[in-house]
Amino acid sequence: MQQEAPAVDTTATDGPEIEIRGLHKSFGANHVLRGIDLDIARGEVVCVIGPSGSGKSTLLRCVNLLEEPSEGRVFVGGTELTDPDVDIDAVRRRIGMVFQQFNLFPHVSVRENLVLPQRRVLGRNKAEAEAVARKNLARVGLSDKSEAYPAQLSGGQQQRVAIARALSMGPEVMLFDEPTSALDPELVGEVLAVMRVLAGEGMTMMVVTHEMSFAREVADRVVFMDGGVIVEQGPAAQVVGDPLEERTRSFLNRIL
Ligand code: ADP
Ligand code: MG
Repeated sequence: MQQEAPAVDTTATDGPEIEIRGLHKSFGANHVLRGIDLDIARGEVVCVIGPSGSGKSTLLRCVNLLEEPSEGRVFVGGTELTDPDVDIDAVRRRIGMVFQQFNLFPHVSVRENLVLPQRRVLGRNKAEAEAVARKNLARVGLSDKSEAYPAQLSGGQQQRVAIARALSMGPEVMLFDEPTSALDPELVGEVLAVMRVLAGEGMTMMVVTHEMSFAREVADRVVFMDGGVIVEQGPAAQVVGDPLEERTRSFLNRIL
């Protein structure tokens, strides 16, 4: 008997938003990621912590194919990024990334920083792109800076612009790689506040950070990596407050 097709294709909404299976990454002889398995649910906020060189950035970069995995599979919203036939550009548009260095275009205004990628990558018309830019600048509290140039802004403001630029592309997932590490301490709070709001709105977020207060308050789950593997994971209160593994304890003792 012939099966009727379901009225709604649920494949994209049932599974985890991010699914990482058996992920390995080597740079030459340097075996950096050594078998990562991780699921992140829609709307979940996961903080990734671990020593320098443990592979945190490489993991994030494999989730938006800035690095090509050596082995394993990565899915975002049910689409396999590691499928050789995947439209990489189409998938990448669904994933926003914010770096430690803000990477704004220095020679154009804040407004144009938000408008240009929408026009070039998404093909939006000027009016639509401007409207989306306005909305997202308001979201990060920088409506009054739309005509400023990046160099005229503080580091915290520049990072909030970088977040607004990523949001303007309408991502399903946001990846943050130590977004506050380059900031003077007094500017960290304003960036974390924007991220807190995003988390509250239900954005799926993967955040590499050493801001343990953020992890404790905002993360649904904390993942501790060392030597290219996940050593332990769980609620922040457990992983940060009462870790099971000696390696996690000694890392936390060093940074706290
Ligand atoms: P973390 O973000 O945890 O500090 P990284 O993922 O940046 O760690 O780096 C893990 C290891 O991978 C390091 O040994 C680093 O030198 C190496 N590595 C990262 N990116 C590259 C690259 N593009 N080419 C070669 N080696 C790299
Ligand atoms: Mg890193």
